Amino acid sequence: MITVTKFGGSSVATAEQFKKIKNIIDADERRKVVVVSAPGKRFSGDSKVTDLLYLLSAHIRYGVDYTNIAKSIQERYEEIRDNLNLSFDVEKEFNKILADYKQGAGEEYLISRGEYLCAKLMAIYLGFDFVDAKDVMLFNYDGTINNDKTIEAIKSRFDESKSIVVPGFYGSYPTGEVMLFSRGGSDISGSIMAMGVGAVKYENWTDVSGLHMTDPKIVKNPCGIEEITYDELRELSYMGASVLHEETIYPIKDLNIPIYIKNTNAPEHKGTKICKTADDNSRVITGIAGKKNFTEFNVVKKMTAKKITVIRDALNVFEKFKVNVEHIPTSIDSFGVIVESKAVEKIVYDIILELKKINGVTSVEVDNNIALVAVVGRNMVLKPGISGSIFSIFGNNNINIKTIAQSTNELSIIVGVANQDFEKSIQAVYDAVNN
Ligand code: ASP
Repeated sequence: MITVTKFGGSSVATAEQFKKIKNIIDADERRKVVVVSAPGKRFSGDSKVTDLLYLLSAHIRYGVDYTNIAKSIQERYEEIRDNLNLSFDVEKEFNKILADYKQGAGEEYLISRGEYLCAKLMAIYLGFDFVDAKDVMLFNYDGTINNDKTIEAIKSRFDESKSIVVPGFYGSYPTGEVMLFSRGGSDISGSIMAMGVGAVKYENWTDVSGLHMTDPKIVKNPCGIEEITYDELRELSYMGASVLHEETIYPIKDLNIPIYIKNTNAPEHKGTKICKTADDNSRVITGIAGKKNFTEFNVVKKMTAKKITVIRDALNVFEKFKVNVEHIPTSIDSFGVIVESKAVEKIVYDIILELKKINGVTSVEVDNNIALVAVVGRNMVLKPGISGSIFSIFGNNNINIKTIAQSTNELSIIVGVANQDFEKSIQAVYDAVNN
């Protein structure tokens, strides 16, 4: 039985953090697969190694003196090595990396070395085997992961008699070149390793004790979430909650491998379990998230016009302008099309013009001051009258509801309010459901 453990940037930022990781690994013999990010910030105002590598790449490309920046990256690893008394020639490795880059190894190769060097040091420190991500995370030509080949490659390099460290954030393109995931992608690497080794769980170690019910920047000390389903997490992340890279769940969702969000600095804390179905029905609302800056096009149609045709024609307009539609709240003679404001900033009038040309449309109004608040909970479906009680929270707090959308599976209720009412709304819903 294998547990895959992934440690994020702040968990590998210093030698002290490496020591905490060793304690965590030693505490459970199932923790045989370790995935690491590149060292992150050690203190506020510090830089992440990955950001420094992007800077280094730009310096080299534009022919600007890069000695200081290269030195500061190299020193991050030397500091960890020296404080842990490890024997590893960072300077030699680093010079080779620079030479490879100058000979055309590509920017993605250079950036990936943040994770590569970290995994090398971690493998030496833990006494585990180093497995290079380029040999086990295999991309297709279209940039997606080739699951079959990847699983085969992982199986050929790992069995239960071994313990390994794998760098996160990259893999290789079919041509053999290094290819990166998007930023924060080590979460996905961990998930793919969990799929490949058939793990019983995937632990994602970070610097917070799991997910909060809402954004701590808005609500002071919100309570934690003990259990959440993959689908709930997806709704919350889509609406702005950020803990895991949003693609993390895909490789393991169908295998039903649970993810645990844990805190490297407080390992005894239970954290949050993310799984297919959750047993805990004690809470109706699991989380509250939201985002500002949406625009609603409110389309009013002639009473005689067929709603379905008008909606179809209106959606075609958005498709033509390549604008992603978020929600379509409807009523008898009008409907709204909600989109992100930044997607239509420059083309609002063109869209209005096209919408007005549609047969059966009488008027189009635009409201570009909308924030969406998503109330998410797998148990809402079990509780009659829940939408009503949520809407009354807004009324009781004198917040005007501009629009409402509810997912058909009743996993989320989305309420549109004015941007300036956003924080107040989140606080009000949080307070009401926790009293
Ligand atoms: N180091 C990469 C980043 O900063 C990947 C990761 O940490 O997951 O985005």
